[in-house]
Amino acid sequence: MKRKMVMVPGPIEFSPEVLNAMAVPTANHVSGEFIECFGESLEMLKDVFVAPDYSPFIIAGSGTLAMDISVCNIIEPGDRVLVVDSGYFSQRMADIIRWYGGQVDLLQDKVGDIPCPEDVEKALEKGIYRAVTITHVDTSTSVLADIKNITRVAKKAGCLVIVDGVAGAAGARCQTSEWGIDIYFTASQKAVGAPPGLALLVVSPEAMDVFHNRKTPVMNYYASFQNWLPIMEAYQNRGPAYFGTPAVNNVRALNVALKQIIEEGLEKRFTRHEKIAGAFREGIRAMGLQIVPVKEEKAAPTLTAIYYPNSEGKNLVKYMEEEGIVVAGGLHPEIKDKYFRIGHMGSCCGQDIILVISALESCLKKLDSRYEIGKGLTACRQKLYEINNQVKGKEGPDEQ
Ligand code: PMP
Repeated sequence: MKRKMVMVPGPIEFSPEVLNAMAVPTANHVSGEFIECFGESLEMLKDVFVAPDYSPFIIAGSGTLAMDISVCNIIEPGDRVLVVDSGYFSQRMADIIRWYGGQVDLLQDKVGDIPCPEDVEKALEKGIYRAVTITHVDTSTSVLADIKNITRVAKKAGCLVIVDGVAGAAGARCQTSEWGIDIYFTASQKAVGAPPGLALLVVSPEAMDVFHNRKTPVMNYYASFQNWLPIMEAYQNRGPAYFGTPAVNNVRALNVALKQIIEEGLEKRFTRHEKIAGAFREGIRAMGLQIVPVKEEKAAPTLTAIYYPNSEGKNLVKYMEEEGIVVAGGLHPEIKDKYFRIGHMGSCCGQDIILVISALESCLKKLDSRYEIGKGLTACRQKLYEINNQVKGKEGPDEQ
């Protein structure tokens, strides 16, 4: 069987230690051993999201469940919400808000761009909003949002801020509490680095107050904080509790993944993602390809969306798979057939992106025999070399 390297924007390649944790016998979910693992994971979640006084939640489900939980507990029918739209997942957020009776105003920009904090500030002057939602990294466009400054203007306008960190968390910078974000959520399968199956959230005391003071009941049973808050609190106090059986092995794997993040250190991890993404984009540019984000500073550190070079380009995903590298096709409805996406998050290192660029060059040659192999690799390797030498000078060991 041919070995394949999975470079889609989640699920990602997981570390052997994380995968081993999935394979141990499943413990009783109220055993002392598992209570310790769950309690510790909840505490680490607060550390990784830098949200010490927030309520953490780890609940079996995907990232969409985390979106659902964030909305159904906070938004009541008639509440107005400003959705800062950077692509496919902002639209999903808007759908969920409408589902629970909220009124959505979409603040849009062209594909590959995102409204700036000043645009958000102006939009918020036009009405009274309960909340603003932002997608930290939109997985359909690889656009990175300035969540720090958008949160600043939203809080000034008295709004709650919900950030979809599914494709950003643990790869793109976020200081949840310091920046004033009320709900930051993600899913286990992306930069956090554990298999799919867990929705992960931290919720501010202010958002919890809003939940406690609701006038209408939460119209979702499984996702209600009312059912999950006592469970999360019990596990943090190292006591048994039951509402729905936790995904025991997924939580064990998450525990290992969170330890690996903390061991690496957040600053080092964010910097590594930024540097690898920068070197990757350097290679992409040198190959004559164009990325979807309109500006370098709006390009995400966790994945890159790239336009196909020509009309034959749609074969690239298939050609890459033949080279042993699994990448993703387009997702944003407006440009779906014009581009593809490559993830570089979690434990992704310099050598990984060198492999990807090398495979991509072979594919470009297949598309156009005049393509000169080596341009992308040279640019990417040169950048990685510069980065590593800088890093060595300042901080010590090689970061590849
Ligand atoms: N938000 C973003 C930004 C995502 O990238 C995704 C998944 N690609 C989701 C939400 C939904 O997550 P899931 O597929 O795990 O439900």
